[in-house]
Amino acid sequence: MINTKSSIDPNELRKLFPIFAKRSLVYLDSAATSQKPEIVISTVKKFYDEYNSNVHRSIYDISQEATEAYEIAREKIAKFLNIDKVNSIIFTKGTTESINLIAYSWVRHNLQKDDEILITEMEHHSNIVPWQLACKDIGAKLKIIPFEMDGTLSNPEKYFSKKTKLVSVTHQSNVFGTINDIDKIITLAKKYNAISVIDAAQSVPHFPVDVKALDCDFLAFSGHKMLGPTGVGVLYGKPELLEKMNPFLGGGEMIRSVKLNESTWNDIPWKFEAGTPNIAQAIGLGAAIDLLNQIGMKEIHNYEKKITDYTINSLKEIDGIKIYGNAPNRGGVITFNIDNIHSHDLAQIVNNDKIAIRAGHHCAQPIMNKLNVSSTARVSFYFYNTFDEIDLLCNSLKKAINLFK
Ligand SMILES: *Cc1c(COP(=O)(O)O)cnc(C)c1O
Repeated sequence: MINTKSSIDPNELRKLFPIFAKRSLVYLDSAATSQKPEIVISTVKKFYDEYNSNVHRSIYDISQEATEAYEIAREKIAKFLNIDKVNSIIFTKGTTESINLIAYSWVRHNLQKDDEILITEMEHHSNIVPWQLACKDIGAKLKIIPFEMDGTLSNPEKYFSKKTKLVSVTHQSNVFGTINDIDKIITLAKKYNAISVIDAAQSVPHFPVDVKALDCDFLAFSGHKMLGPTGVGVLYGKPELLEKMNPFLGGGEMIRSVKLNESTWNDIPWKFEAGTPNIAQAIGLGAAIDLLNQIGMKEIHNYEKKITDYTINSLKEIDGIKIYGNAPNRGGVITFNIDNIHSHDLAQIVNNDKIAIRAGHHCAQPIMNKLNVSSTARVSFYFYNTFDEIDLLCNSLKKAINLFK
């Protein structure tokens, strides 16, 4: 079934996704969430069917099985990211919660008035708002690395200073598809003694990410954008940092002992996993990672580069189209507008042809402001998209133009 490590056959791989058999669908919104393969759906179902129970609590068989499966999923994630220490992997509900965890448990205890947090102008709202809230509480300042019109970051080194305590940057932009030079950002962070945070929501699903080689302090991503279920994500943190950090949420699981007036904390990672965790989802994410490994992350990236080039070339043939950003190093996300047609109308018209594209601000309003538009259309890929689907998209967009003539 999946034997090709060397090349991707999207028509074969599509067969692993029940949704494509159940309906006619050209799905071009994987940057928002990916489709789910049968193996992930059945792994989640198997948990509920066969060994549903709470984890880390009981000595009976099914609870042991659930605990083991949950912890094996954690090991799979560590291996996938080339991380030696499994206790550096915290299950959260997604990138958003992962970043908030840092803002509450690290930033609010380590920053002081007039310290600086550095982000970029191309961040997703979930890598902006948690820092704004923390800065407001502390009296710290949020500084911004701007982007150039080609969708690349403009001289990040200019924005670091002795006051920079934390820098948080998206690995791959969910609007331009730009793959940022985060090695450079992490090196700068070390030079200025700042903590580095990587928003890997769009990178970990689409190309190999070697956390050991990157040597960042934190890295966050979501399961649902990489074939996994909704409701589970990951925060990687360097163990020495996590050990020193205060808990994020309080409750069961995260404690060692509780007295009525004080408590002590469990070891990492459980110190950060208060309450009953997302057990089925984490196990499902483990199955997603097995599949990604079988297909091959390099192969996925190479295929997505090809389909992205093909799409950009095809879109450029369309009258009145404006594509935003053309970074030399990019992944499978393309953002555009067509003259005199609102992106919502475009999305509506292509939807009549059963084509799902995104229209709006893509949770990145500061980008829209800089581009001086209220919204854009966006297409984004995964290995299950075919070149034929791109031809269908282009025909549908041309129909839209004729309709608005
Ligand atoms: C989707 C996304 C997020 C937020 O992820 P959630 O799963 O909604 O928490 C953050 N950053 C980027 C770059 C994203 O694409």
